[in-house]
Amino acid sequence: MVEHSSPEPAALGPGDAVLAFDVGGTDTKSALIDASGRVLGLRRSSTPLDPADPAGTIVASLAVLAREQLEAAPGVVPVAAGVSVPGLVDEVAGVGMFASNLGWRDAPIRSLAEQALGLPVTFGHDVRAAGDAEHRLGAARGYGDVVVLAIGTGIASALVLGGHPYAGGGYAGEIGHSLADPLGERCPCGAIGCLETIASAGAIARRYSAATGVAVAGAREVLEAATAGDPLAKRVWDDAVEALAEALARLVANLAPEAVVIGGGLAQAGPALFAPLGARLDALLSFHRRPVLVHAQLGDDAGLLGTALAARDLAVARRNGGAR
Ligand SMILES: [Zn+2]
Repeated sequence: MVEHSSPEPAALGPGDAVLAFDVGGTDTKSALIDASGRVLGLRRSSTPLDPADPAGTIVASLAVLAREQLEAAPGVVPVAAGVSVPGLVDEVAGVGMFASNLGWRDAPIRSLAEQALGLPVTFGHDVRAAGDAEHRLGAARGYGDVVVLAIGTGIASALVLGGHPYAGGGYAGEIGHSLADPLGERCPCGAIGCLETIASAGAIARRYSAATGVAVAGAREVLEAATAGDPLAKRVWDDAVEALAEALARLVANLAPEAVVIGGGLAQAGPALFAPLGARLDALLSFHRRPVLVHAQLGDDAGLLGTALAARDLAVARRNGGAR
């Protein structure tokens, strides 16, 4: 049930030259992809947050980054750009419906970015972009029905069903905000006992600190303490694994994925996460189709690569005379 594969460099392959931006709550990653598929000028810069005009400020910063990318590679002429963001995203309408950490509501990011960049722009969700990259280039290649989980500060997922990404109007994949403990703590989303209040890397660190009074930098320290025999650390870690296994078991019963790809900070725990999670999931299932659990392959850059793929898709669709 458990498989591991080591990260490999992704190959985008030949195609159109495009710009890609993966906008996060803290950092924005940007790159220029050339016609051979090389990722040029990959860089991380801080995301400017302006409560007065969150969308306009961020889009203006993308235009500055674009200019710098083009100056650094004068021979490369992008024909489209991709922008991915967290939160609720309506990819069809090109609208950022909500992003708690970026501060916008119903922001028409795609049209703003098209004006600012002077290029056709595809606008998407960061985790779905990462899932698409894992499906087309990484760990989920060859599977038609896949769940790609990103477990970091929060927990989000991307769904690929019947070979196609499934977005549910921007609302799909929010497994981190599904009920894990009816008596649990209130989640910043407003609900009680969400999975990510127990099983995200952030929650594991926070719950251990709350239980012991010892501040820790992250889930890795909690895992180390658990491995060294600290009973409170073991309880926090085991609670996280149990909650994840139960959430995956429900997902497996509903969607029957062939593979569950796990990435994000917590996946770096490797066998310490995958082995108990796989065993517990196996125990919870009966007649269900058992998915393989696989480690994400594309690492931190999956979102940016998926965004570049989407921009290339847009360029092809434009050339073929189709809509976006
Ligand atoms: Zn929640």
